[in-house]
Amino acid sequence: MFRKILIANRGEIACRVIRTAQKLGIATVAVYSEADADAMHVDMADEAIAIGPAQVSQSYLSAERIIAACKETGAEAVHPGYGFLSENADFCANLEKQGIVFIGPEPEAIRAMGDKIASKKIAAEAGVSTVPGFMDLIENADHAVKIATQIGFPVMIKASAGGGGKGLRIAWDEAEAREGFERARSEAAASFGDDRIFIEKFIEEPRHIEIQVLADSYGHCIHLGERECSIQRRNQKIVEEAPSPFLDEERREAMGAQAVTLARAVNYQSAGTVEFIVDKNKKFYFLEMNTRLQVEHPVTELVTGIDLVEQMIRVAAGERLRIGQDDVKLHGWAIESRLYAEDPTRNFLPSTGRLTRYRPPREGRSGNAEIRNDTGVAEGSEISMFYDPMIAKLCTWAPDRLGAIEAMSGALDRVVIDGIAHNIPFLSALMRHPRWREGRLSTSFIAEEYPNGFSIPKPDDEGRPIFCAVALAVELLHRDRLDRLSGRLAPHSGGIRRDWVVKLDEDHMPLSLVEGVVSVPIELDLTMAGGDRLTLCSSWRPGEPVWEGTIGSRDVAVQVRPALNGMRLSWQGMSSIARVMPPRIAELDRLMPVKKAPDTSNMLICPMPGVVVSVAVTKGQEVRAGEVLAVVEAMKMENVLRAERDCTITAVNVAPGDSLAVDAVIMEFA
Ligand code: ADP
Ligand code: ADP
Ligand code: MG
Repeated sequence: MFRKILIANRGEIACRVIRTAQKLGIATVAVYSEADADAMHVDMADEAIAIGPAQVSQSYLSAERIIAACKETGAEAVHPGYGFLSENADFCANLEKQGIVFIGPEPEAIRAMGDKIASKKIAAEAGVSTVPGFMDLIENADHAVKIATQIGFPVMIKASAGGGGKGLRIAWDEAEAREGFERARSEAAASFGDDRIFIEKFIEEPRHIEIQVLADSYGHCIHLGERECSIQRRNQKIVEEAPSPFLDEERREAMGAQAVTLARAVNYQSAGTVEFIVDKNKKFYFLEMNTRLQVEHPVTELVTGIDLVEQMIRVAAGERLRIGQDDVKLHGWAIESRLYAEDPTRNFLPSTGRLTRYRPPREGRSGNAEIRNDTGVAEGSEISMFYDPMIAKLCTWAPDRLGAIEAMSGALDRVVIDGIAHNIPFLSALMRHPRWREGRLSTSFIAEEYPNGFSIPKPDDEGRPIFCAVALAVELLHRDRLDRLSGRLAPHSGGIRRDWVVKLDEDHMPLSLVEGVVSVPIELDLTMAGGDRLTLCSSWRPGEPVWEGTIGSRDVAVQVRPALNGMRLSWQGMSSIARVMPPRIAELDRLMPVKKAPDTSNMLICPMPGVVVSVAVTKGQEVRAGEVLAVVEAMKMENVLRAERDCTITAVNVAPGDSLAVDAVIMEFA
């Protein structure tokens, strides 16, 4: 076994690998860029080596600096995590030349599977079912249109070197094929330095289901069942689960067998993932093989009880795999939610900044369920624009799928994140979504269920009584505390007011207190608007960001933040400003005029921080709905901004090359 390994990565995955190395008694070396000097992975490792500036090309992607760090520290092996150098065959070969072990497959396997065109050919030859399409290079836009027409629309235009959902475009007709080809090509050139494009059939109502494989260097190869990753935005996964609610035992065996066949065909060793797209008739097609540890590997670990990082390290050290196919038993259900620093109400655009508060829920067993949170940040950490905006991977396990969903809902309600926008409201709303709960998924789930984008829902019939009760409990403790401050007029001695109105956003909801003890812990007996009685108990103290307690027979965790004259409450993805007032004040409050938001319908607003690539129109020009107005590049994606309606351009405020902030007014029209 190795004595010391280096982890050529950052963030949660570096921390994840260090944890297993520590368990195995292996010393660890972290590497870090200037932006990560205070990062968690640096703290956790036994040693840490600075490898350069924040830009990945000069730090985490620099094979040279990482090899130098190995030599300096005497690390015998490198775990690459995911992303960065994890699927770089040259890096792997270079390490081998220096006598350092790469904890992953051989460079030949990486090379064979790293290219989508090449891997599809190998898969087809090995008898694995592949997506119908054209297996060679597309030369230009005309060629793209011709091939797409032959395959039959819709088609998927893909970069052969693609990954991470980049360089992918769906085309439904000739015009989209032409434009999709150009965009995919320029994105691929910018992101991967390789602009080779191919086209395959777009599988409709697709579900993304992948098989985890594990192989040693003695030809022993097994699979660990599947993960379903159909909840995606921009072709990138956000929620994954194991097993898949779509597969039966027979299908699982068939997909597992094909995945193992493919792994064997390239002499695979280590952990790897064979991705399939599955259509509504449960016919499955090979998409690509990822020759590394996958982001969503924890769900497989939770249902199999196998530590994948440990197996990777053992295999790399030359050990035989001790697990046979029959030893792999899937137990219960696991779900992973990726907590991203991104704004779900703005089309999931990344949000960067400091995590002024970050308190994940407690890990471990609670009742029938289990919580695991893989993270690489701590309160006060910066989510920087240089790296992936993932904050953590929150996973839950339970004996069955609904149990795991309920556990996830509860866990999400308890995560405290302040300082940046995050996707918890979306994840929480998803956990309540009937179609998700029934497991009727497809990769277009988000597009279909939120055609006009996601907006944070107001409390529904189930949420309103909870919001009102919590608002009153918070308010009463707050008022009680103010009354006890010295130097204030003593409160009148009329006892506790019975009748209250909670204003939830614009709605006034009356409720009254039957009896109660206003102290910590608080206990209230309430009558709600419709006459329903509710009891509430909680040990919440003013200032705590999560109000936990029981309302009726239900355990709830509600996020509480101060807001002007009230508080913002959030629960299960719903959110509302609550203001508590006596009935007479509520009567007067109803007479107050409501301030209108400024009208921005005549402006093209920059949806994300980015750089202007091109401007397609000039002042005075008349444009039709759907015409291109400008192209803005952000997060390596070229985003085409189009006119939403017919209009005349009255001002153009930007030029190519300009850097734009969110909400910058790009142009105005009439
Ligand atoms: P990446 O390397 O970026 O992960 P993939 O080839 O794995 O690229 O595709 C990413 C996602 O795009 C898939 O999970 C799936 O949602 C969608 N996708 C890819 N190819 C197809 C296809 N032929 N038909 C339908 N959806 C597809
Ligand atoms: P008003 O003086 O206009 O009648 P309120 O009846 O709302 O105002 O409250 C009077 C005082 O009694 C306030 O300072 C408030 O903090 C306190 N108070 C009212 N109801 C409660 C209660 N249920 N628990 C604790 N303090 C209360
Ligand atoms: Mg993929």
